[in-house]
Amino acid sequence: MINGWEYIHCPVCGALVETYDICSKCNWQNTGETNIDGGPNKLTLKEAQAAYAKGQKIY
Ligand SMILES: [Zn+2]
Repeated sequence: MINGWEYIHCPVCGALVETYDICSKCNWQNTGETNIDGGPNKLTLKEAQAAYAKGQKIY
């Protein structure tokens, strides 16, 4: 918790991001602790991680 906000590490790039916020580094939208597929993201988590590893933007 930072300043009353709950933060998690982005599952795609590892940056600190507010829970349920969009990562400013890789554009992954976090859906909570689980970051399950089928949420607001167009890619699955695996696809997003693969795209980020290749230096591609997720969106
Ligand atoms: Zn990220």
